[in-house]
Amino acid sequence: MKRIVEKAAMRQWTRDHRAAGRRVGFVPTMGSLHDGHISLVHEARARADLVVTSIYVNPTQFDQAEDLDKYPRQLEADAAKLVAAGCDALFIPRNLYAEGGPPHETWVDVERLTDKLCGAHRPGHFRGVTTVVTKFFNIVEPDVAVFGNKDYQQRSVIQRMVRDLDIPVEIVGAPLIRDHDGIALSSRNARLAPDDRQRALAISRSLFAARDANAAGERDAATLIADVTAGISAAGGRVDYVELVDDLTLEPVTRIAGPAVLAVAAFFGAVRLVDNVALS
Ligand code: AMP
Repeated sequence: MKRIVEKAAMRQWTRDHRAAGRRVGFVPTMGSLHDGHISLVHEARARADLVVTSIYVNPTQFDQAEDLDKYPRQLEADAAKLVAAGCDALFIPRNLYAEGGPPHETWVDVERLTDKLCGAHRPGHFRGVTTVVTKFFNIVEPDVAVFGNKDYQQRSVIQRMVRDLDIPVEIVGAPLIRDHDGIALSSRNARLAPDDRQRALAISRSLFAARDANAAGERDAATLIADVTAGISAAGGRVDYVELVDDLTLEPVTRIAGPAVLAVAAFFGAVRLVDNVALS
């Protein structure tokens, strides 16, 4: 696996391969890789001849300095996992945001779609995500990029941005991968105290119960939301939001009449976790 740190070298790598007729797939990550990330690498490999994974803890998407400082970093273990997954290039950008000279002042902002769910609770977060992903698309120039449906709103926002700005890349959403006990895999899980890790199972347990209720005919948003909120609170979690939204527009749904997503963000200890299930 080739390691690339310079932006110009990254762009040249892709251009050389594309000139030879190869399709390049791209998986952006913030590292501390787990099987959820690796599933994206496999998804990219299935849709391209070569796969680039980036590892970059992007400061502009953190609304809490402490969260940025505590974000886990483990580059060599990550690289070994990517080699095992058959990744072709690892991009660890240096000076992604220009250093020295005038400050970075240009932002990409997807408007109403980012007002909801996580966007409503993390000011500036999605502006940081869309800006850094645009920079990556301009540097890596991939044919296809894969994003996890675990961060459902993020995937939706990127898809909308690419459509609105005619960015020449295909966006693929990949399924949410869970641990054996049901918890959504996340780099942040490593920061959970052992008893909080156990209590946090209430998130997936409540979402699965809601999915079962929905399969048995429950369509009422207020009922589903109240049950999930109660399940997480009873386990000692602090609910940031529980919302039932249309799977495309992310607008709130009061009664399920088509594809919808039941999305949760909740704190266990100081760690904010997100999860979701599809309902219909
Ligand atoms: P992150 O490193 O948390 O920024 O995530 C990088 C990419 O991996 C994003 O597209 C996430 O949605 C995706 N991802 C993270 N966790 C999971 C998971 N459990 N299942 C599927 N994709 C995931």
